[in-house]
Amino acid sequence: MLQFTLLQGTYIIAGLLFILSLAGLSKHETARAGNRYGIFGMVIALVVTVGAAVLGVQSGTAAGNRPGTGLVGLGLILVAMAIGAGIGIWRARSVEMTGMPELIALLHSFVGLAAVLVGWNSSYEVPLQNAGIHDAEVFVGVFIGAVTLTGSIVAFLKLSGRMKSAPIMLPKHNMINLGIVIAFVVLTVVYVLMPHDAMFARQLLLGLLTLAALFLGWHLVAAIGGGDMPVVVSMLNSYSGWAAAAAGFLLNNDLLIITGALVGSSGAYLSYIMCKGMNRSFINVIAGGFGSDGAVVGEAQEYGEHRETTSADVADMLKDAKSVIITPGYGMAVAQAQYPVAELTSRLRERGVDVRFGIHPVAGRLPGHMNVLLAEAKVPYDVVLEMDEINDDFPDTDVVLVIGANDTVNPAAQDDPGSPIAGMPVLEVWKAENVVVFKRSMNTGYAGVQNPLFFKENTEMLFGDAKDRVDDILREF
Ligand code: NDP
Repeated sequence: MLQFTLLQGTYIIAGLLFILSLAGLSKHETARAGNRYGIFGMVIALVVTVGAAVLGVQSGTAAGNRPGTGLVGLGLILVAMAIGAGIGIWRARSVEMTGMPELIALLHSFVGLAAVLVGWNSSYEVPLQNAGIHDAEVFVGVFIGAVTLTGSIVAFLKLSGRMKSAPIMLPKHNMINLGIVIAFVVLTVVYVLMPHDAMFARQLLLGLLTLAALFLGWHLVAAIGGGDMPVVVSMLNSYSGWAAAAAGFLLNNDLLIITGALVGSSGAYLSYIMCKGMNRSFINVIAGGFGSDGAVVGEAQEYGEHRETTSADVADMLKDAKSVIITPGYGMAVAQAQYPVAELTSRLRERGVDVRFGIHPVAGRLPGHMNVLLAEAKVPYDVVLEMDEINDDFPDTDVVLVIGANDTVNPAAQDDPGSPIAGMPVLEVWKAENVVVFKRSMNTGYAGVQNPLFFKENTEMLFGDAKDRVDDILREF
């Protein structure tokens, strides 16, 4: 009993640390402290959970009905942890910043796989009490886990460019999705009512559900187009949380339920914010392109000639400017241009120029991608503004430097109702007096649509790697 109470108490402390961590991560200034709370909470959670498994202490309502794993179990757990930690450390050290989104998508798929395995394993247990609830938990856990597993793999393939990012729509895709969800509810009821000694029929039913859920995960994410992928990434983050919570119910682990619910609800809220930021319907996105006819539109159009400039001319333009806004995008991450950009910012500020950054909610390939890069390069937080905070200021701005951004500054989102990014709010950079676009070619951005900004009269293209070009400008100062 004492061990049980101690376990519960420690889980509450770890749960509180996770909540403090999330609160800390919501602001630049407190993000480091938030990270530390999270690490501390996870260390406590791991040590206590492993200790409890070895001694056979459980935190859930059915506490005490599983034997401890003993020293052999401890050895196996430590070996598994060492292998997992080794692979994790190697990947974390070797991953490029631009490879982070697909790595995260892949990690979500592991959570889904774990929930499927826990569900299947638990399906062999016959609990003495509440067997119906246990059976329903198995079904829900396997369903959410399998959807997360294949959904995350498709997201990984799309983000890493191994699969085309345009939506893939099967005929009657909405009906297919709805049919699978209805089948899930019906099969759950049948499974709960089925006697436990009909083992073969029960496993067959669970197998069917697993296959249907694996297909649903693939279908939901395959149907979502390039521009909407950010919402999918945060949605899968949320699904992975619910999958972990479902596994927590099956393993009788209260902390896993709390942690899963925190990840699930914060991921869902982030998806909602991103949908609002992109002017997309939350329901449309989670239902996998619901309501869309799947047409791929926005092919390259003829917008006229673009104008090129040189680093020396841009440096001269900046020397005369009073106000400058920098709008970074994915290309800044590719070029790792954040350091020279930070240096340019401080040089301009020393000359009395008002320099600010405009950050689009889906710039880059991860929520907060640009904020992380700029913080890494020590750009002061107070000059880094969200899109809504800065969009009205472009008409009063002398120079906008678009550094490796494309879709997030594309006026077609406002002017072309047929564009795949139509309706997405964008940074209205073209309203400034002068716009300089740093990129290597006239290629499209992630959504695969041409950008009329590049052909506007007040826009000049500065071609080349963004880091090299900003370095060139710094040399001119
Ligand atoms: P985009 O992906 O639209 O464009 C990036 C631009 O950077 C490209 O046009 C490319 O042009 C240029 N570029 C690439 N490498 C370099 C380099 N070394 N030097 C200079 N330029 C370079 O970027 P945005 O940030 O504007 O938009 C993000 C897009 O990603 C949106 O469509 C968003 O929906 C999507 N997305 C966002 C996610 C998120 O969570 N933030 C997740 C998944 C997708 P060129 O090749 O000519 O150099």
